[in-house]
Amino acid sequence: MDFAQDKLNELERLGLLRSLREISNPSHPRVCLSGKEVINFSSNDYLGLSQHPILKEAAHHALHQYGTGATASRLVSGSFDIHHQLEEFLAYTKQTQGALSFANGFSTALGTIPVIVGKGDTIILDKLSHACLIDAAHFSGATLRVFPHNDLQKLEKLLIGSTGRVLIVTESVFSMDGDHCPLEEIIRLKNKYGALLFLDEAHAVGILGKHGRGLAAKLGLQDQVDFQMGTLGKALGSAGGYVAASQKWINLFINKARSFVYSTAPPPAQAAASLAALQLLETEEGQRRRDQLHLHLSQFSSPSPIVPVILGTNEAALRASRDLLDLGLLVPAIRYPTVPRGTARLRITLSAAHHAEDVAQLKRALSNLIAIPSSPKRQ
Ligand SMILES: *Cc1c(COP(=O)(O)O)cnc(C)c1O
Repeated sequence: MDFAQDKLNELERLGLLRSLREISNPSHPRVCLSGKEVINFSSNDYLGLSQHPILKEAAHHALHQYGTGATASRLVSGSFDIHHQLEEFLAYTKQTQGALSFANGFSTALGTIPVIVGKGDTIILDKLSHACLIDAAHFSGATLRVFPHNDLQKLEKLLIGSTGRVLIVTESVFSMDGDHCPLEEIIRLKNKYGALLFLDEAHAVGILGKHGRGLAAKLGLQDQVDFQMGTLGKALGSAGGYVAASQKWINLFINKARSFVYSTAPPPAQAAASLAALQLLETEEGQRRRDQLHLHLSQFSSPSPIVPVILGTNEAALRASRDLLDLGLLVPAIRYPTVPRGTARLRITLSAAHHAEDVAQLKRALSNLIAIPSSPKRQ
């Protein structure tokens, strides 16, 4: 009877065992993997900001000014001016009254959603929502309803049958498929049925809309989204999570979001790098980086930097990933439970840091491996 080993053996038998790969000398888009330099098509550093001198300098400066750790929860003595500056800037870019930052996106969802709904309420999620949204929904104690991916008819049916306060949860750009949610239609339904909307912009910020402010900004709908959530760890190249909303909700999160109240504040250097990244997005250089990224996306006719190549079985996805690695291309195989069973895939992520030749090399390798359709989308 060896519980842990039995579980590991079972995962291995199912082709679902995962393990860590150690990377050294990252200089995006290249990384050193087991002593070999490969081009990284797996990071979410869509604009290449994690290596940007301005972010490094901001973090460096904050490190010297504040030290390494915040040393307490924000409500005790860990609420530094740099955290407040970050939140003011977030609220400005999100066009909301307020914003609150967290250690990461995962804890943002876990902390906030259970404040918005609880027992007797209803939470309605898109089927492909990120794990942190699903966990937060369970944790909230609200009745959980799921609609098939982007299925508005089913969403409306669920809205009709729901009780208590109702929260719709979805993503701007889906993390494993790279497609967008139909935000205008979802907002129309939310208004029709008096529901609230929680929008996770994790993979849209930095990429979509004016100054890369996200999908809601792109469509001019920021004032229609009750909660704009996101991460500072992907296109923004730093770490952390945030939610932007009306001041009343922000004040309530400060009081009630458990991952905020009972957790040490993120290091000031992290907040400083995040603020520098947000400011950079608004500059000409931010625009240049977005343009460069969109040039790469056009090579794949992709609406986002996430390009899934669905292969079906775990074995096929693992094999393709290994073959690409042999060619010096790091493209991860994504399997259940990250994606539904039978939809194992390669998940390519493109970045402004890639050169045109990197992308061309990937395209050549892919067309030799598998016949990729001109638009590798599911629907
Ligand atoms: C990555 C991700 C998160 C979590 O953000 P972290 O800052 O990495 O914890 C939340 N939602 C979505 C859709 C994500 O892809």
